[in-house]
Amino acid sequence: MPFPNMPPLYPGYHHILFPIPWLPTVPLPLSHRIANLLLSDEVQQISFRFGHVITLPEGFRKVADAIRDGRVSVSADATGVPSGATAAYNQFTNVLHFGAPSILDSADGRGTTVHECRHAVSDVIARKTAMRHEEAACFIAESWYLQNIGAPRNAGITQSLWDIATALRGRAARGRPVTATGAEINAGRRAVAVEYAYENEHYSFDGV
Ligand SMILES: [Zn+2]
Repeated sequence: MPFPNMPPLYPGYHHILFPIPWLPTVPLPLSHRIANLLLSDEVQQISFRFGHVITLPEGFRKVADAIRDGRVSVSADATGVPSGATAAYNQFTNVLHFGAPSILDSADGRGTTVHECRHAVSDVIARKTAMRHEEAACFIAESWYLQNIGAPRNAGITQSLWDIATALRGRAARGRPVTATGAEINAGRRAVAVEYAYENEHYSFDGV
């Protein structure tokens, strides 16, 4: 049945249909706001190879797609986050866990989100990675994002990882991934081993 012809709501102002002031604004769900963050310029400019761990703009776009079609889901229930952490990515259940739904309200929270979503980048391509390479790459992506938005380093990021991000970002040309040097890889792996006590193990990302 075709939509019936309707009289204008306000005679003489029939072209003014929006905004309809009595409809409440419905905020986007957290999952969609995270997908939008991954599609933002500040994330899409992050592009680097850290040994076998590769962080490309299209990787973040694949994660955004997976979030929007439900292959990766988002939980803001604090009970899903391991003790001592503010966020985590579970590569077996494909869930991004955050301690609070306000995670995107602060620059540091958005940086944390970029870190966890960079883990999901390895998962969407089902890549098995060395834990110290993987974590260093995630801290570098988090630092790179914070530098892109002009935010300072926070206490959750060691100076050495921040400095590697500064160097990579400085060498980056838009659209082409920059490659970490052997010295940068060694320094990044050492930082996550010494400062965060990550073991010399592997992550088995199994796809989403
Ligand atoms: Zn991590």
